[in-house]
Amino acid sequence: MRVLVTGGTGYIGSTAVDTLLTQGFEISILDDCSTGHADSVPAGVSFTQGSLLNPVDIANALTGCEAVMHFAGKSLVGESVQKPDLYHSVNVDGTRNLLDQMHNAGIAQLVFSSSAATYGEPLETPIKENAPTKPTNPYGATKLAIDQMISAEAASRGIAAASLRYFNVAGALKSARGWLAERHNPETHLIPNVLRSTPENPVKIFGTDWPTPDGTCIRDYVHVIDLIDAHIKALHALKPGNHDIYNLGSGDGYSVKEVIAAASTAVGFEIPTTAAPRRDGDPAVLIADINKAKRALDWIPTRGIELMVADTLASLK
Ligand code: UDP
Repeated sequence: MRVLVTGGTGYIGSTAVDTLLTQGFEISILDDCSTGHADSVPAGVSFTQGSLLNPVDIANALTGCEAVMHFAGKSLVGESVQKPDLYHSVNVDGTRNLLDQMHNAGIAQLVFSSSAATYGEPLETPIKENAPTKPTNPYGATKLAIDQMISAEAASRGIAAASLRYFNVAGALKSARGWLAERHNPETHLIPNVLRSTPENPVKIFGTDWPTPDGTCIRDYVHVIDLIDAHIKALHALKPGNHDIYNLGSGDGYSVKEVIAAASTAVGFEIPTTAAPRRDGDPAVLIADINKAKRALDWIPTRGIELMVADTLASLK
């Protein structure tokens, strides 16, 4: 089966590409390389460097495909607060174009990269898929709008779809081509920033006065290899006319200070830090209830925070 991987040159998309290839899938990639890297396209993969905002690019990329894994999109909470229109255009309008081109091409299987940011500040923790959805930032609002659009598409056009609501993705896959590292510029994510912290440029802790036991935000980290395993299981479990939503996390939360402690252990010295104001759009605590994915997809994340930190460290060297 040939799968179109949108966003296949980015951190998570390229991990999906490599994993799918090793499992015998054929791959096409659509990516504008605005944040990804063309040099991460493996040999033998059909690559369209193009945009979700250009229907012709999408139609070209879909040629010969039977399913789509849709990773492409803008994904930074802080940036989305500054540029909400950009996020709406690329994420929501881009996905509308993708769904229309899939319909034109008769492709009816979709696995979508959604986000825990769709829930906003949770009323109950851990968060279940049927929890209220009140995003606290434009990024989460775009992911929620897309999830709703996909539900409508399953109901009206009968596509088979799954939305995977990621909590915090970390770690890296070492492929035959080397480590598929997170290569964002600027890097905003906690674990790579912690591992790059220096006394001259210490990692900032965004808020030390959150209503949590140590005053720093709590997040649920899932290894990117476990995350992609869930995508492949979700692809196999798709049913026509159904749109299933699954949380992907580990089911456990770590505060920013706990992540820094784990990283300090991994590097063998105390990582320098500095307190900074809260970041716009951040909820205090996000922890996934992953029982639905465990039950329905027979998925169990097996890689803990220590391995996520160790693999990130190895991938950044
Ligand atoms: N964070 C931080 N310093 C950084 C980057 C992130 O304190 O340099 C915090 C951030 O406020 C959040 C958590 O770490 O509470 C995870 O942030 P990240 O950007 O990695 O992922 P997000 O939760 O935005 O998806």
